[in-house]
Amino acid sequence: SPIPDYLQVVVDHSSYDNPGHNASYISELRDADPNRVGACLSTVDGVVYAAGDTDVEFTIQSISKAFVYALALEQNGLEAVLERVGVEPSGEAFNELSLEQVGTKEIADGYTSTGLWIRRRSGNSGPLETDTRRPLNPMINAGAITAHTLIGPAGISADERFELIRKGLSAFAGRDLGVDEAAFESEMNTAYRNTAIACMLRNYDLIDVEPEDVVKAYTRQCAISVTARDLALMATTLANGGVQPLTEERVVRPEVVRQVLSVMMTCGMYNGAGDWVSSVGIPAKSAVSGGIMAALPGQLGIATFSTRLDKHGTSVRGVRICKRLSDDMGLHIMHAP
Ligand code: GLN
Repeated sequence: SPIPDYLQVVVDHSSYDNPGHNASYISELRDADPNRVGACLSTVDGVVYAAGDTDVEFTIQSISKAFVYALALEQNGLEAVLERVGVEPSGEAFNELSLEQVGTKEIADGYTSTGLWIRRRSGNSGPLETDTRRPLNPMINAGAITAHTLIGPAGISADERFELIRKGLSAFAGRDLGVDEAAFESEMNTAYRNTAIACMLRNYDLIDVEPEDVVKAYTRQCAISVTARDLALMATTLANGGVQPLTEERVVRPEVVRQVLSVMMTCGMYNGAGDWVSSVGIPAKSAVSGGIMAALPGQLGIATFSTRLDKHGTSVRGVRICKRLSDDMGLHIMHAP
């Protein structure tokens, strides 16, 4: 097949220069070799093509959000998840402290510990009301942290929940995935913003676990180690309607995949989503570690790895590679054949 040579050409052409910057807030990401670049493509029948650095491990970071959202949907169903996490693009950075208002709820008289504003339903009398809120979508940290807590039976420990998530992501990849403990430790050293987000979620009763515990387990989720090959196969499991192409295990139902890919399409690239959808046109998710994974329903999964990022936190050469593949192979979802 000519595909491997072609893929190598695309990778080489993406590297005429190497602009952007490594993420700096986690030392393991800051110090990662910026010259590495790789691309992997896997068809739904499990044929894998790779070029460049596709066996180098890096932390999955935000790409985990798509898979944890899938596991949360598989376990709880769409309705229950939608109550806690919306599906609207935020147009904001991934770590924004924001919640959309979804309605109001009646609260007991004198109960004022949660909710930013409290009022009486009619003038000076009537029951007290406060606003109810939820994160805009599961791809920003607020939604991802909420989705994380929806995994596993109520009352399990943060460690047990993390283990379920690690196993779930491993099922998507078709191999047992480990954790980069050093990257986990360094992100925890400065995880104040995610702690603030978790406290905000706890305040609105969107999560019912301790903010410190959930931030630890969520940060460990982000530190799960993958290669571009793993990510391509994980994407292909989505493209294949939820069945891992090599192990043939059904990981999630087709309805779950539809929901996840829809949200990836609109929210996967944060505030760069419009640019990505129009120029590449494949549901995708990026990560600050330099990975991008994209899934084209019924056809293939793509993953790229290159650590230098643009202003949205997305790999510069990764975007170039995906755009080229999309153009050359007519992968854009809106492209009329
Ligand atoms: N662990 C990172 C965070 O929560 C993930 C961010 C990302 O990949 N965009 O800040």
